[in-house]
Amino acid sequence: MTEEFFERQLSLWPLAADNYKAVRAARSKSFCLNQSLNIELKCLPQRMRSATADTSRSAIAARPCFLCATQLPTEQLSLNLIYDNKQIITSTEAQEMGYRLLVNPYPAFDKHFTIAAVSHREQNLREELPAMLALTEFMPSYVHFFNAAGAGASAPDHLHFQAVPKGSLPLERDFAAWHVVHSRVLFVSGQTEVYCQEDFLRSAWLLRSRKPEELCLLLQEVLDLITTSMPNRQTGTSTETNNNSQTMPVRQKPAVNLLSWYTDGLWTCVLFARSKHRPACYYETGEQQVLISPASVEMGGQIILVRPEDFDKVKPGLLTQIYAEVSLPKQAYSDISETWKALHHRSNHQVI
Ligand SMILES: [Zn+2]
Repeated sequence: MTEEFFERQLSLWPLAADNYKAVRAARSKSFCLNQSLNIELKCLPQRMRSATADTSRSAIAARPCFLCATQLPTEQLSLNLIYDNKQIITSTEAQEMGYRLLVNPYPAFDKHFTIAAVSHREQNLREELPAMLALTEFMPSYVHFFNAAGAGASAPDHLHFQAVPKGSLPLERDFAAWHVVHSRVLFVSGQTEVYCQEDFLRSAWLLRSRKPEELCLLLQEVLDLITTSMPNRQTGTSTETNNNSQTMPVRQKPAVNLLSWYTDGLWTCVLFARSKHRPACYYETGEQQVLISPASVEMGGQIILVRPEDFDKVKPGLLTQIYAEVSLPKQAYSDISETWKALHHRSNHQVI
């Protein structure tokens, strides 16, 4: 159904059709870093707007939201989806709390969907996890991902996910090869396996489960641990008043990228914890500048370059440095992993 929808959209929208042609003709190359970690590069000038989006609070507040229905291009079709009874189903009409499947007119892959909330609502991953996992099951030929504010979201104020075909991202495509080398079991909870990663260039946890409810709870747990560990919890609106007139700290949203895919009843999720939206080379000038703005796609091993002149500047050393810069520092990653593990060893002990 999504394939038909995709083809129909392209037949009605020459700009999108041209951009998909350009993706197939894009210049590309790849590096193998550490062991079994393939990182691919692709040059897509049409992604300039996304890579260089001003996501500061003032810029976001000043612009009309491009994911709201009133701003969608006239050519844009949407397939209405709703999350109901633990699954995603199609709906003839858009529903306030539902989602729109949209063909991304500025793609990074052969097929590239945005799945945006119908209403303009904030990106609350914690609350939307059940729907995201259900979407992953609804479109099992795709890798689904979420970019939080500060981790690559170009519309951080309007909840949205993205989906690209399986096989597009090295993270999913080469899973078997890197999993055996880099994954270490952190703990097992119920039927969900939780792994931390070693020599992985990025700070990430891998979760595999046949129980979406369990997976949700565990992801919510680690999101909370990341939030608690964030150093500047006072940024932005730091307090709010609850119904009892007590001042409560606002729950900040952790800067993460979540990628998820589903095969034969098994969900695989990789959560990347971030420390920075963009690396130092993004802000350099002249020859030193490389416009790379890492989000899920880049954390998933596919680097999108938007300027042809950057193509030859990117070498394995720079990639390693960029990943280290934008990822949660090793010590913080290891502290969160240990706290999370202890939480489960303690609860297992109590059960016994
Ligand atoms: Zn909006």
